Formats: sequence, structure tokens, C-alpha cells
Amino acid sequence: MLEVCSLASGSAGNCYYVGSENTSILVDAGISRKEIENRLRSIGKEMSCIRGLFITHEHSDHILGVDALAKKYDIPIHMTAGTLENSALTIGDFNIIEKDKEFAFNGLTILPFSINHDAAEPVGFLIRNGSTSASIITDVGCCCNNVRKSVSESDIVVLESNHDPFMLMEGRYSKELKQRVIGQKGHLSNYEAALLVLECAKSRLKHVMLSHLSKENNTEKIAMKTFLSIISERKDLSHLNTCVAYRDRPSQILVA
Ligand SMILES: [Zn+2]
Ligand SMILES: [Zn+2]
Repeated sequence: MLEVCSLASGSAGNCYYVGSENTSILVDAGISRKEIENRLRSIGKEMSCIRGLFITHEHSDHILGVDALAKKYDIPIHMTAGTLENSALTIGDFNIIEKDKEFAFNGLTILPFSINHDAAEPVGFLIRNGSTSASIITDVGCCCNNVRKSVSESDIVVLESNHDPFMLMEGRYSKELKQRVIGQKGHLSNYEAALLVLECAKSRLKHVMLSHLSKENNTEKIAMKTFLSIISERKDLSHLNTCVAYRDRPSQILVA
């Protein structure tokens, strides 16, 4: 059994809860400690029950709350060497993880897999509990083989669906920023996210949570509509539950 809930998602901060019968972890802590505590409490969890923190990359929307959490709670914080070196993090029980190397953690098996993004050594996470698996795939510029494989092995996927390309191109971002977003080390569009699931998901996939939606260049409605229209081709995924991760409050709790 795995439970997954987004506490915050987007450029203003990311934090994802993942729990099994035996343990609870957080992936990223890009909002304040207080907000993490409050939002966990609102879904019936406590920060004191979190056994580990796992960081995808050093951008501030993924690590803003790490120092404050480390000051108050004695939790191991896991990240790649490149992420630690390029963050300004200094306090905490840091554990260096190697990308593309699976390890055991409190009954879970965790694979930090390398992804393309404009950070030093960014990773996504494939988290397994027995035969159940969940992927956290956010801030990815393109769907490399690691990303495709992770989706194919998952029952739950938290997947970046950052922007609608038309809104981005017509929007007020500078030319440079637009290029950065659509680039191979930028962010996944609604179409790229949907095509990834269309092509790679196995029929075991139960939940997709569209995440890291741009406030400027996307809406929940457009992201959902794009995803559902593309995925409707997969008749074997008619059972699929699709939802969005919110910027400012917890999502649905997904269970598989
Ligand atoms: Zn981000
Ligand atoms: Zn990022």
C-alpha cells in the first residue's frame, strides 16, 4: 500500500507526502515549515511521524523549508551530492544518494533516477512498497528513458504538467524565459505529460496527479482537459483517476 498527497505544487513551492503502512516520507520541502506542519495536520498526519526527507533538486521552490524543518526535527535529509553542493543548505542530517541507484528505506525501496532539468544533479523518485509503486516526476524538461520507465512501473504518478504551449507563447514571459521553459532542461507541457502517459503507462496505473501547474501559463481546467482528451485513446485506462495538485492546499490523497 502507498498513499500519496501533494501539500503544495508549483513555482511557489513543492512538497509531496508519501506513506506506507510502516513509514512516512516527504519529497521536497519548498514551502515554510509552518505550512508543511499545517497541511500535514489537515490530512490527518503529523510532521513528527515523517521519517525522511528526499529532495529532487536545489531550486528554491523545492528546498525553501528544509533549514527550518532540520532545526526542529531530527530527520535524515536525502539528496544527490550535486544538489547539496549547489544549495545553500548547511544544517541537517544530510545523506548523499547516488542517482540511478536503488536503496532501501524503512521498508520502502527508493530509486532516485536522473532527469533533464536546469539544476546540478536533479532526480525523480520511484518509490516501491512491495508490489506497489509511485513516481514523483516534477521539473523535467523532456521524457527521457528513465522517466518513461518510471511511469511504466507505477500505480500512482505525480507528473509535471507545467504549461499550455499556446498560453506560454502568447503570454508575457520574455523570449528567453519562454525558451527556458520549453527547452530540454525546462518544464513539461500539458501535451508532453499526456503523451508520456499515453505511450508508457501500463494498465496497472490507477492515479495520475498533474502537478507543478504554472500560475501564468496554465489552468487546472486546461491541464485536465488536455490530459483526458489524449488519454481517452487508452481504453485499458478507463479506470484511471486523474486529479491536479494545488499550489496552496493539499490535493486528494491517492491510495494504491
Ligand atoms: Zn520547481
Ligand atoms: Zn526546478
